[in-house]
Amino acid sequence: MVELFFRKKHFYPNDYKKTVFDVDFHQLWENNIRIVMLDLDNTLIPYDETEATEELFTLFEQLKQIGFRVYIISNNKKGRVKAFAKQVGVRYVYSARKPFRLGFRMAIKHAEYPDPATVCLIGDQFMTDVLGGRRMGFRVIVVDTLKRSGEKWFTKISKYLERRILQRLKRTDPDFYYNMKLDEKR
Ligand SMILES: [Mg+2]
Repeated sequence: MVELFFRKKHFYPNDYKKTVFDVDFHQLWENNIRIVMLDLDNTLIPYDETEATEELFTLFEQLKQIGFRVYIISNNKKGRVKAFAKQVGVRYVYSARKPFRLGFRMAIKHAEYPDPATVCLIGDQFMTDVLGGRRMGFRVIVVDTLKRSGEKWFTKISKYLERRILQRLKRTDPDFYYNMKLDEKR
């Protein structure tokens, strides 16, 4: 299977949280994270929504107040990504083609090539966010998918592969799997 072509550690997120609101951003700052990259679809809002919630406005305010540089990094098209990023007032990369490196490189170029260890990526998918972020040497936090319905065909394939990856992690590294509570990931 495809996962054999990649190094195993690239499928290990650094942390798992239910939602983006469960991430302790103050602690990330203390741990020397300076840049936060966020996946859009099903991490911040479901596919079928476009508006940021009050809770999200508050979150982005908090991120800026702490001092992070924040980027939305999405494989989706310009219109949708730009419209969301404008609402919350952050920079963005659209058509990022995660897990490939190009989109991430565009974002870090913007940030004047920081040490990858100072970047934290938060996303809901193993095949794009975890794999892509870990290949870049970022810290990666994986969250639950907000809403499964309305996913495009390639996301469904990606989710199928994700299940395979999770099964493999469970089999080959059960301590990691259960410590990270990955059995709860949806
Ligand atoms: Mg996503």
